[in-house]
Amino acid sequence: MAILVIHGGAGGDGPWLGKTPLDPGRIDCMKQVLGVVGTKLASGEIDCLEAVTLAVEMLEDEPLFNAGQGSVIGEDGSITMDASIMRGADRAAGSVINVTKLRHPIRAANLILHQGWPVILNSDAADDFGVNGGVEEVSQDWLKTELRQGQWEQWRQNKASPGATDEDDSVLDHDLEGRVTTEFSDEGMGTVGAVALDVNGNLAAATSTGGMTGKPVGRVGDTPIIGAGTWADGTIAVSCTGVGEAYIRTCAAHKLATNYHSTTNLFESTDKILDEVAPLGGRGGLIAVTTSGEFAMPFQTRLMYRGYWRNGELKVGIGPELE
Ligand code: ASP
Repeated sequence: MAILVIHGGAGGDGPWLGKTPLDPGRIDCMKQVLGVVGTKLASGEIDCLEAVTLAVEMLEDEPLFNAGQGSVIGEDGSITMDASIMRGADRAAGSVINVTKLRHPIRAANLILHQGWPVILNSDAADDFGVNGGVEEVSQDWLKTELRQGQWEQWRQNKASPGATDEDDSVLDHDLEGRVTTEFSDEGMGTVGAVALDVNGNLAAATSTGGMTGKPVGRVGDTPIIGAGTWADGTIAVSCTGVGEAYIRTCAAHKLATNYHSTTNLFESTDKILDEVAPLGGRGGLIAVTTSGEFAMPFQTRLMYRGYWRNGELKVGIGPELE
């Protein structure tokens, strides 16, 4: 059996309002990723680690998702990206924090995993490690899109308005659609992730993000933190999306694994962890797959871009329904 599950971020409050004009592009991208990578995974051409890396690379290349090109823009007007990856069989892991010039931050994390030590590199050292390892170097101008520039301008205007607080800023990216009404409005935020079960029964998880619009310089979200945004062991692989601080404070991905180990009830375990994250301001979602062949894609926001490939069956969704 082979299973690939992906997400493209969660966001928004309230009932599902239907697709935005940008959503068909995101749907096409998710279908492409699942079809291409799922087929390779099922044939045994690639293992779970390469599958999640490839899937996330393809999502990083889609400017409509918040990772790689099209990442959101931070407080100082620059893009900084985080990514992490974990292999369940031996719990090998790799992570990069605040990289600024890599087309594929997840590949740099994968290279760190293969090197074996250390597990995490940050900033210039992580950029240089990636470039020296063969990850394509790109400019900030290449990473920035008009859509993200527009969202950033709106964030700046909101920040300047009376009553705006730092706390507002921390959720702005996820709730942007509810707050603004211009051509740049968009409810899907777009951190990306993938989890996979390969034909040898092994698991891996990967997550990549530009973080949150207007994030303070030096901020580190949950995405590059093993056990918070990403986790894989011999039983379960997890990738999270949402307001990162709450996922860090609950060690969400690892806690889900622990719950699952003791209950072996995947759906009960995923609901439980999202219920724990939410009161800390961490509305969002996650994807998970287990060695028993179950997978889950729960979210507590208006939407979560998501999809799966299982033995040739491919489905994607944004709101409550899958198509
Ligand atoms: N978790 C990410 C972060 O906090 C954002 C997201 O998932 O959209 O950086």
